[in-house]
Amino acid sequence: MIETGELLRGKVILITGASSGIGAAAAHVFAREGAAVVLAARREEKLSAVVAELRDKGADASYVVADLTSAEDVRRAVGVTVERHGRIDGAFNNAGIGGDQLPLHEMADEIYDTIIDTNVRGLWNCLRAEIAAMLKSGGGAIVNNSSVGGLVAIPAAAPYVASKHAVVGFTKAAAEEYARRGIRVNAVAPGATRSEITADWFGRNPGLEEAIHEVTPQGRTADPEEIAEAVAWLLSDRASYVTGVVMPVDGGYVNH
Ligand code: NDP
Repeated sequence: MIETGELLRGKVILITGASSGIGAAAAHVFAREGAAVVLAARREEKLSAVVAELRDKGADASYVVADLTSAEDVRRAVGVTVERHGRIDGAFNNAGIGGDQLPLHEMADEIYDTIIDTNVRGLWNCLRAEIAAMLKSGGGAIVNNSSVGGLVAIPAAAPYVASKHAVVGFTKAAAEEYARRGIRVNAVAPGATRSEITADWFGRNPGLEEAIHEVTPQGRTADPEEIAEAVAWLLSDRASYVTGVVMPVDGGYVNH
């Protein structure tokens, strides 16, 4: 049995996209490992339900409603975190959308705009606000949620793939820039994981889940907690010499 409860003891961590899926699972895993967590997303009802579950377990958890495509909302989310806890030690920039799956030449501009605005501008907004706050409080650790689509192509999802490659680019650029100022920046690249995004994709594309399982060495979809466990380690001081890394958490998919 692996002992839990100490990995993130005393850390203050902001999690974006924490109203469902991987972000909500991360809130549970980080809290279990001793962190105070602040959850951000747009849907207040969902955020409030996740925070209630966490508080029932004795966690120090709160939420802030924010649309990450707005730089002002993001500054407010980071500001509220610092107001509540005095500092921000870690951030999991997880929020993102999948968008419709279509051949590239059939994609409407609106799909491109929404995906790039959320997955790229949203991250840009977060990195600027979080890094500015971390520099004031002496450093921190950031993990960005990319995707296997940030490392290799996935079919019928060109703007999503481009957006997740951009997440990798921001991760490397920020890691390089702040390595000597006490801030580590890494990314995870999850494979297919049970969540609202995949429920939507699998629902609209019969056979897609089975096809992914076939080309995934472990032959299955991940539980969101399995992604959150990798992120927890990357955010912890046990990963103190790890920066600029994009870690696949994908059952062997990109290695295949
Ligand atoms: P979910 O749809 O369950 O979660 C997405 C989260 O992002 C929600 O909490 C949503 O909250 C939030 N979000 C979306 N847009 C915004 C916005 N403009 N402002 C604030 N929050 C926003 O799916 P997942 O858990 O799967 O997705 C989490 C991340 O994991 C995404 O970045 C996704 O690309 C990535 N990923 C997922 C994989 C998978 O197979 N599931 C595989 C690889 C990567 P709300 O709607 O309340 O704002």
